[in-house]
Parts: sequence; structure tokens; C-alpha cells
Amino acid sequence: MRANQARLDLDALRHNLAHARSLAPAAKAMCVVKANGYGHGALTIARALEPLTDALAVACIEEALELRSGGITCPILLLEGVFEANELPLASEQNFWLMIDNRQQLEWLEQAELATPVTCWLKIDTGMHRLGVVAEDAAEFHERLMACANRTGELVTCTHFASADELDNNQTERQISLFNKITADFSGPRSAANSPGVLGWPDAHYEWIRPGYMLYGNSPFPKPHPNTEALLPVMTLASAVISIRDVEAGEAVGYAASWTAERPSKIATVCIGYGDGYPRLATNGTPVLVNGRRAPLAGRVSMDMITIDVTDLDDVSIGDEVVLWGPELTAGEVATHAQTIGYELTTRMPERTPRVII
Ligand code: PLP
Repeated sequence: MRANQARLDLDALRHNLAHARSLAPAAKAMCVVKANGYGHGALTIARALEPLTDALAVACIEEALELRSGGITCPILLLEGVFEANELPLASEQNFWLMIDNRQQLEWLEQAELATPVTCWLKIDTGMHRLGVVAEDAAEFHERLMACANRTGELVTCTHFASADELDNNQTERQISLFNKITADFSGPRSAANSPGVLGWPDAHYEWIRPGYMLYGNSPFPKPHPNTEALLPVMTLASAVISIRDVEAGEAVGYAASWTAERPSKIATVCIGYGDGYPRLATNGTPVLVNGRRAPLAGRVSMDMITIDVTDLDDVSIGDEVVLWGPELTAGEVATHAQTIGYELTTRMPERTPRVII
């Protein structure tokens, strides 16, 4: 059997949520578990978080139904709302909360015949310009939702940040200030903070925080930040050495011969590749941990294998453990070598790599 595992430390997950709550003690927490729990396994993550969270959030009704079928009973917000009017009765039956972010969704809700009214969140576009109601329409939407017979409970008004991971970018201040202005006369709770909002923008905590990435133990910031030090990575991606060979100086390794030995070198082949969730764009020099010690990638990432320069490591043997990311080497650091972000690395983890709860 191939040694590959995406090991999941659910105590770390619970610890990261406690950390988010400690930063925003007055706020309720909605844990974001969309895209298969950022690749960790939506049900596993939701089951671990359910006793500790006030609500969960997913992108769409299909993801919410998967959680309900797996026994999750807490409120689940559909972050993108419904895509078709005929999803509304199902959402109401299942106690899914609805994001209302455009006029069509509002009209569908007003015109629907629902046995049970639904809880709604109203999304305002304060600068992301992706989803949400524009400032001029916000009061009308709020009023109509307050009056809508198909809506129940508190109406939460929310927005989403475009650049909160950049602490010196004043776009977030502008978004907060516009959000405050738009919502000044609205009754009901507010929500704005994604992970960087929770970690770095206390003015954005409001009544509900919506952390995703930080729950999985990763820092959304490119630079060190005191509030990220306590985060514990949930996923450790591990594999093993399956072959070792000596190559002479001047010999190239792997597809397209992208790495050439500058000295007599020892190359270890590891049975994990882009078909297992390791990023194909990882460049020569990307670090991995062989028996806990750093060694650089040497050669292109293949579908099922990578090759590592272990010349400077003693005693590397077939079967030795190789960690691709985890607590000692973050997915964020690996991502910087692969033209991407840590979010993408965990989220693209395929079924082929077994998730193992440790
Ligand atoms: N809120 C909304 C509306 C989102 O789309 C997301 C994720 O993209 C989040 C919260 C969580 O963001 P993060 O993973 O950065 O915490």
C-alpha cells in the first residue's frame, strides 16, 4: 500500500476555533467548511466542530445536504444562497440559512410558498465587487427582508473583505467604514470577519465571525503576525521514500530534465505527486521533510512521484517518512514555491489520498 496520508489532528481544529473565539469573545462563530472542509473532509470537520460552533457555512445546497445526511443538525448558511427557486422549499425544510445577495434571490424568497420560513443573511458589496447588494440598494433589501413572511429570526447583514490579509492595505478600512455607514440604521447583527478579519481587524468582528482557513491551522498573512502564532495546522500530508539512487554531476532528474546535479548527488523518490494533491508547479528547491529534516525538491513533480535531493542528509532509507506539509512546514510556505496559496493546496487534496484522523 502507498504510504500517502493526509493526517488530521482534530484537537488542533478545536484549538484553532477556541483561538478565534478568544480573539472575538463577544461574537458568535460560523465555521466555514465549504469545498469539502477546505479539502480536509467536510463531514469529519463538521462533526468535530458542531458541538463548539454556533453555525456552519458552505457554498451551496449540495454541500449542506451532504452535512445533513451525515447527521449534522446545526444551522448551515449557504454562502452563495440558492441558485434556483426550487431549492427554497428544501432549504426551508432542512433549516438551511440563506444568503441573499441579489434581487432575483430576494424575489424568489418573497414569492415562494414555504411551509417554514427561513433565516436569512443579507450580503452587501462594500468593495469586493463579486457578490452582494450595492450600497444604494441595501436599505431597500433590508426593509423588504424584514417584512418578508418567508423569513424568520434575526436578519444578519454581512459583507466580505477583498484584501484583509494585507494589513497595510487600506481597502479593508474603507470596506469597514462603508459597511458601518450602510448598516448604521439597520436592526440586527452584522458580520464581516473571515480569517484575516478575525486575526487582524478587531473593528470587523461585529456580532458574527466567519473563520475558515485559520480553523485549519493556517495563517492567511504573508508575514508573521502575533495572532497567528497559536494556530496549529490540522493537516499533515505524509508519504515515504520508495527509491534511492546516486546521480553523477551533470546528470538531470525527472521530466523535462529541469534539475541538474551540480555535484555527485543522492536522489530519493517519494510516492506522492500531483495526482495525490502535491502541487505540480512546486519548483526545484521546494522544501519537504525527510525524517523531520528539510530537503529540497529536485526535478518536476510527476503524477505519482517527486524526487528529492537528499545528498546532505545521512541515513535516508527506503520507507522513511516524508512530510510535504504539516506543523513544521506549513502549506502556506510550500504554496509560495508553487505560485499559489495554502488554501488551494489543502482544498485540492483528491479522494485518492486517504484522510486519517490521528
Ligand atoms: N465568508 C465568506 C463569505 C467566504 O466566502 C469565505 C471564504 O472564502 C469565508 C467567510 C472564510 O474565509 P477564510 O477562509 O479566509 O477565513
